[in-house]
Amino acid sequence: MSVSVRIDDRIALITIDNPPVNVTSHAVREGLMAALDEAGAADVGRVILTGAGKTFVAGADAREFSAPPREPHLPDIVARIERFPVPVIAAINGAALGGGLELALACRWRIAAPAATLGLPEVTLGVVPGAGGTQRLPRLTGLPAALSLISEGRIVAAAEALRLGVIDAVDADPVAAARALALTDRPATGDLPAPAAADAAIEAAHRQAAKRMPGQTAPLEAIELVAAAARLPLAEGLALERQTFLNLKTSDQAAALRHVFFAERAAAGRGREGGADIRSAVVVGGGTMGSSIAYALAGIGIDVALVETDAAAVERARANVTKLYDDAVRRGKSTPEAAAADREARFTFHAGYDALPAADIAIEAAFEDLDVKRRIFSALDPALPETAVLATNTSYLDVNRIAEGIRNPGRFLGLHFFSPAHVMKLLEVVKARETAPETLATALRLAARLKKIPVLAGVCDGFIGNRILTRYRQTTDILLIEGATPWQIDAAMRGFGMAMGPYEVQDLSGLDIAYANRKRLGWKTKKDFRYIPIADRVVEETGRLGRKTGAGWYDHAEGQASPSALVGRIVEEESARAGIARRSFTDEEIVDRAVTAMIEEGFRILEEGIAEKASDIDLVLVHGYAFPRWRGGPMHHAGRIGLAEIERRLAAFAAADPLSWSVPSLLRRAVEEGRDPDGL
Ligand code: NAD
Repeated sequence: MSVSVRIDDRIALITIDNPPVNVTSHAVREGLMAALDEAGAADVGRVILTGAGKTFVAGADAREFSAPPREPHLPDIVARIERFPVPVIAAINGAALGGGLELALACRWRIAAPAATLGLPEVTLGVVPGAGGTQRLPRLTGLPAALSLISEGRIVAAAEALRLGVIDAVDADPVAAARALALTDRPATGDLPAPAAADAAIEAAHRQAAKRMPGQTAPLEAIELVAAAARLPLAEGLALERQTFLNLKTSDQAAALRHVFFAERAAAGRGREGGADIRSAVVVGGGTMGSSIAYALAGIGIDVALVETDAAAVERARANVTKLYDDAVRRGKSTPEAAAADREARFTFHAGYDALPAADIAIEAAFEDLDVKRRIFSALDPALPETAVLATNTSYLDVNRIAEGIRNPGRFLGLHFFSPAHVMKLLEVVKARETAPETLATALRLAARLKKIPVLAGVCDGFIGNRILTRYRQTTDILLIEGATPWQIDAAMRGFGMAMGPYEVQDLSGLDIAYANRKRLGWKTKKDFRYIPIADRVVEETGRLGRKTGAGWYDHAEGQASPSALVGRIVEEESARAGIARRSFTDEEIVDRAVTAMIEEGFRILEEGIAEKASDIDLVLVHGYAFPRWRGGPMHHAGRIGLAEIERRLAAFAAADPLSWSVPSLLRRAVEEGRDPDGL
């Protein structure tokens, strides 16, 4: 039974019970209508609406997102609650999100438990509230608060909800409080006067949306709807809201955001079964990555032994770790005392491997050099129990070769964290040739504890993400030599929705990393490969390594980046040297080429079994490389464009530049069979 009614003392208690989080599935909506019928037929003076378990109602049923709406619709239930002959009181025992909060808003009173959370996060899925939220909430809170809650999809705790006027009271036992409540003659939420107009708040909401969710439609529509609450009678506002909701529900952006949401849920579910629990760890290398990996591990209660090469390096590592704790204190996430105590309790620092504790896992984050890494594991192997999981954080190198020669190679794998490792959610879990299933399960379990989004990857140069990144950059370098400029390419890719363009990113992270990588791959002399010398010349001849040297693809002065005449000249010289007549490119041409290159590489990654499914590639690009979430990742985006069109584009690119492009056979097959990327 997903909805139950209990009547005593002239009170009808309606309980929504749809584990795990009481979503408003079709059965719940039918159950609510039946429960209201029953309460209406009984001689009651009030109705209390609550949820079973720890949640009030967490929103709509994700499984119904893509299906046509089925009666009874939530707005009908909400309208019935609002006009019910006796007052309905929401006893909000836990999270009231989306449709859950909309049910509560239609109630005459709202009493929430202290731990309850409340919000209308619909915009994060590319839609707007569809059951009156945009019209009722501003009548309770005024425009400014409703704007920030709805257009940002912000979720607040009960105390803040009380302050904003979303709820009437906070009580440890909201059902008892609802029973005891002295009823007064109070208007329905929808009958409250329209909120005052607030132009400044609307402008501020637009600025926030442009900053936090650029390119997305739903936040803008949400702002319009909330603003309309000040202008339109309730019925008209509700009709406008419903129409907007239904339009957005079938939009490309909503489909993309749902796709990423489901992919994240599937990934997060991976660490729930099997594997051993990690209690202690060795981290080798205390630089950028090692220190933040160690900090993340300590943050979930794992004891960390941090290994560096010598005493001076140990001191640098210690300072790196201390800085992370200090940052947490500065951001108000910890106190100086708690931070110091935690660091003391969790960390030991070591120069070399002599006094290492017996750890459950070792994660190596030393220099990106095969020999360095191999030497580290040959030292770790005898220093730790034979059962300890051994992991490398390499970005590109061959994990199988790093593992050669260790005892029990089934315990070896890659754990590719992203920088900063204590913040970034993505984790590529790289399965080496001999990695045992139990080792993978342990790694996934650790990922779940760290609240990461783990994606399984096979061994190849750069795994999923960096392999696509390399291809993307190679493709934009070809655009450079054919006539585009770095600044134009950056602007075009930002226009597509990438957080930054490829050259801006290199200036931020340093041109030396990609340079070392190209050298390692031997691009200069590689056969059957279109080598573009521009980036190498910038590094070798000018020493411009990006922001850290004050110059890279751009000139950097006082925090401002401006196009570099010197780089512009190198680009033009290389075009001339290659005998290429430079031509102009539209932004659309730039984006089509760059994104199609990512898609082609994605198909190859799938074809070779490096990724298990297309949505994993999307997760990697969205979470690790700032691919616009609202485009769903490159593979989802390919599906929206149409795979036949992608095949056509690739064939055309390949005809003009056969060294750089070809049509993957997996794509050909998918087009023949009429399948989309998720079906592969
Ligand atoms: P880094 O230069 O900041 O740190 C490397 C650290 O390793 C230094 O502190 C160095 O003293 C130490 N080290 C070197 N050799 C050692 C040895 N034999 N024993 C113990 N310690 C040793 O580099 P980083 O950016 O932290 O990168 C580390 C690894 O992580 C590399 O393999 C890199 O490819 C990978 N990675 C980096 C990023 C990133 O964004 N920086 C992201 C993912 C993966």
